[in-house]
This record gives sequence, structure tokens and C-alpha cells, in this order.
Amino acid sequence: MAHRVTLIPGDGIGPEITAAARQVLDASGAEIEWEVVEAGEKVIPEYGTPLPEHVLDSIRRNRVALKGPLTTPIGHGFRSVNVTLRQELDLYACVRPAKTLPGIKTRFDHVDLIVVRENTEDLYAGIEHRVGKNAAESIKIVTREASTRIVRFAFELARREGRRKVTAVHKANIMKLTDGLFLECAREVAAEYPDIAFEEMIVDAMCMKLVQSPENYDVIVTLNLYGDIISDLAAGLVGGLGVAPGANIGDEAAVFEPVHGSAPKHAGQDKVNPLATILSGVMMLKHLGEMEAAERVMRGIIGVLQEGKALTYDLGGSARTSEMAAAIVAHMQK
Ligand code: NAD
Repeated sequence: MAHRVTLIPGDGIGPEITAAARQVLDASGAEIEWEVVEAGEKVIPEYGTPLPEHVLDSIRRNRVALKGPLTTPIGHGFRSVNVTLRQELDLYACVRPAKTLPGIKTRFDHVDLIVVRENTEDLYAGIEHRVGKNAAESIKIVTREASTRIVRFAFELARREGRRKVTAVHKANIMKLTDGLFLECAREVAAEYPDIAFEEMIVDAMCMKLVQSPENYDVIVTLNLYGDIISDLAAGLVGGLGVAPGANIGDEAAVFEPVHGSAPKHAGQDKVNPLATILSGVMMLKHLGEMEAAERVMRGIIGVLQEGKALTYDLGGSARTSEMAAAIVAHMQK
């Protein structure tokens, strides 16, 4: 049966990298019917917003989307398009795997971890105000509902993917009430999953350990702000933005997208690395239950990386975006 998927090409480099991902996914063996809808900076003149309602409706209807990056216009009074999208669709879990890939030079060889970040609250609730001229205050919200939901999501993911350990990251020694509540919820949920090891780690120690021995970590679950920082750190361990995929997942919909932004200075040059988007597509295939197709795409990617010929500039090569995608398809068909 064909899967209907919303495709948002996005701004800047978005159209090039989503075209590359579409080409690879179309060759994967999974039957996908793409519903292409435009969002971002380019639709503002027509709709007065970067995120028109019909885009949200398309994702609600299809429940799955592959999305290119969207530019948040500065100084026009728009909220971040990406944050709005996550809130509108209640995409409460941000999932960012970081896995060592062959042929990509990094300091570490055996990284294979998944950062699960709470996406809806913490300091990102955006409740801030100035207190007089020389002070400002930001309110950190943590609820039992969101904390339990995200930790349960992490354990379910661990179980599904045959992972051995979940590490809950917090700063409850200082923020005893907010992070303390998160930790309390994490302990309660962990007790329901005796088959998966559970450990707790203070966020600063986590950062140090991740750069010392990242191979010791498996699934990491944490609050919004720490998750934001740790997932970039994790991307850096395996080769940076060009190879960092992500997903924002809720109960009603899931949006798959690269971690990087629209990189406007590279737009239209057929130059940037499409792997982050293609790897997001692999996550999407797994979400759709298309395991063989996902494996086929991974074989294509690994084939290209091992051969080392069709690599984009950030991986030390000079291939175009479209050449790398074509090479991946060729390897998938071998
Ligand atoms: P960026 O990630 O777009 O680019 C930073 C730099 O990283 C680029 O100049 C480039 O050198 C490198 N880079 C990024 N993607 C690459 C790729 N695929 N291959 C090779 N190199 C790559 O970050 P930015 O410049 O801070 O943001 C630009 C715009 O993107 C902003 O408007 C921002 O709001 C938006 N943004 C959107 C998303 C999203 O849609 N999820 C995420 C982050 C930023």
C-alpha cells in the first residue's frame, strides 16, 4: 500500500536537499505518494504567514511529513516557524540519532546514540519579561504530564530499537523542583521497563562524558534546553550538521527533517550535503514500517561513503548534491 507523505521543500537549500532525498526514497522500494506543499519565507507574500493553515492540514491528514529547513524572517514579528509547527501539531518528542558513519573523519569510532528531547515546555515556553531596566526573568515550566510522556517515549523507542540503556539527563541538584519533578517522573517510568537499564546523569557531567566516551551511551532523554545543546554536541561527535538527521514526533503526526537550517548562502548551488535529509528519510521509512527500504537506503549511503568518490565539500569531496544522491541510488541498485 502506498504511503501518502507531505513534502515541504522549504527555504534556501531546502528544495535541493529534499529533491535529493525524494529521488533516493523513490528508489528505496517503498511506495510513497508525495503531497508537495510550500511553506516558509517564499509563501509570505501570498499567505501573509510562513506557515499557512493548508500546510498544517496536509500534515494532519497524512500524519507524516518530510520537511526541508524553513527560514525564520528576522525582525518581521514572526515566531520561529519551526517552533510554531511543533506546537500546532503537538510534536512533543524531538528525536536525533547520532551514529558513526564509515568514511567520515571524526575523533570517535563507535558512537551510536539517540537523543530524545522534550519539545514543548521548559524554558522554551517563551514566558519572559523584563523586571525594570536592569533585569529580566524567564519562567521554566515542567509538568508531570510532559515529563512522563517524553520518558515513556524514550523507553518505548529503546524497546522497539533493541537498545540496552536509557540515560535521563537533568540538573536536579540545583533546580530541585523543576528538574526534580522531571527526574521523579523518569524514575517512575523506568520502573515499568525492567528489561532496559536506566541511569541518571547531571547535564554538565553528561557533556564531559559524551566527549570522553560517547560509545557508553545509548538513548538519552532530557528536558528541552539540555536536549537542544546535547543533540548538537552529539551531531558534532559524528561529523556535524551535514549528517545530522532528526524527527519531531507526536501522537497524531511526525515530521522528519535535517537538524541544520536553510543555509541561504549556499542556496541554488547544488553543493550542500543531502545526507542529513536522506537520513531523516530513513527514519521516516522506519516510522512507516518500511524496514527493508530503510536498510536499502542505508546500504546505498554506506556504499557511497566507503567508496569516497561522490562526497560533498563538507566531507572533503567536490561532488554536487545531485551527484551524491545519484551515487546513493546507484549503490542501492547494486
Ligand atoms: P544553517 O544550519 O542553515 O547553516 C549554518 C552553516 O552550516 C551553513 O552556512 C553551512 O556552512 C553549514 N551547513 C548547513 N547545512 C549544511 C549541509 N546540508 N551541507 C553542508 N553544510 C551545511 O544555520 P543558520 O545559518 O544559523 O540558519 C539559517 C536559517 O535557517 C535561519 O533562518 C534559521 O532560522 C533557519 N533554521 C531552520 C531550521 C529548521 O527548519 N529546522 C533549523 C535551524 C535553522
